[in-house]
Amino acid sequence: MIQSVYVHIPFCRSICSYCAFSKMFYEKSLVDRYLDALEQEIKSTYQQEKLKTLYIGGGSPSCLSLRQLERVLQILSLLKKEKEYEYTIELNIEDMTLEKLKLLFQYGINRLSFGIETVQQEQLQKMNRHHDVKKVQSVLKQAKDVGFSNINVDLIYALPHQTLRDVKRDLKFICTLPITHVSTYSLMIEEHTKFYVDGVTPVSEEMDEAMYWLMREELKKVGFAQYEISNFCKPGYESKHNLTYWDNAYYYGFGLSASGYVPNKRYTNTKSINQYLSGNWIKEIEELTKFDEMSYEMILGLRKLEGVAKQKFYHKFQKDVKDVFDYQAYLDRGLLEEDQNYLKIPEAKLYVSNEAMLAFVGGNNNE
Ligand code: SF4
Repeated sequence: MIQSVYVHIPFCRSICSYCAFSKMFYEKSLVDRYLDALEQEIKSTYQQEKLKTLYIGGGSPSCLSLRQLERVLQILSLLKKEKEYEYTIELNIEDMTLEKLKLLFQYGINRLSFGIETVQQEQLQKMNRHHDVKKVQSVLKQAKDVGFSNINVDLIYALPHQTLRDVKRDLKFICTLPITHVSTYSLMIEEHTKFYVDGVTPVSEEMDEAMYWLMREELKKVGFAQYEISNFCKPGYESKHNLTYWDNAYYYGFGLSASGYVPNKRYTNTKSINQYLSGNWIKEIEELTKFDEMSYEMILGLRKLEGVAKQKFYHKFQKDVKDVFDYQAYLDRGLLEEDQNYLKIPEAKLYVSNEAMLAFVGGNNNE
């Protein structure tokens, strides 16, 4: 049963130097045409399922005008929701106004996700981000006053020339905000980004790792528990939407370049705006074998600190994990650990979690 929806709004007012996402400059009439196509896609695909989570991401959904943002919310109000649902939107601090916050609240959005990234002004400038500490503080206060009580912030670390002290300063600042969740990202310098073209070099691997452990430690001290490799929250504030992905549950992906997972297949929408506008939404379909499904179950599930529940795996696939995958060598090397109920990555090995995942990809199995 499909329980979640992701909607991609691929527009931004300015382009960040590190961004490799599917996005383009905001242009009023293009956005209007995009929203027409989005409505068509949703209406022709959605099968009236009741949803537990909805997530509007981008891009910067917040860069839309108030009228366009309301149109998105109206389109999504066609979707049925469970009584208890989580409804998140990604927001760029620099786009935010009190009117937009009130509109989101009025349409039932109950979780906000702000891209703060860092509060070091020099770094923000290099990243082509235009907010500052004061704007962050005032927007978060407004959000709280409007009635939002579940707020995530994204942080980026391993920025060029960043030090451990800088990271500590970012953490100290965000902990003064009324937030419930922190998502952390190590900067990746990817092709076709300004950073890549400018030859920006990342921090060393050792520094990246030191920053990772520092963040864990500092966030833990102030009550943010780690529940996934890069995600932390106050008790009870895990991202239910992201847990859909890590639990390998079904979801629709709507919009340019969005991906979805529906029974027996994963699909990815086109990245071409012209194709999307002409109604040719889906670009690729991956038909899944039972082994593929089991492999995804493990690779996604191991991202959670609790790991994969072996009983749940059996219940879903009528097979024991150990009869499908040969992971003994990974247990011996300490990259995995298991007890009667769970198979997981030990906390000390979270930074090298990719190594453990190799046990569950094709070619390394008993099928
Ligand atoms: S706001 Fe987000 S999507 Fe837009 S350019 Fe920056 S990182 Fe990319």
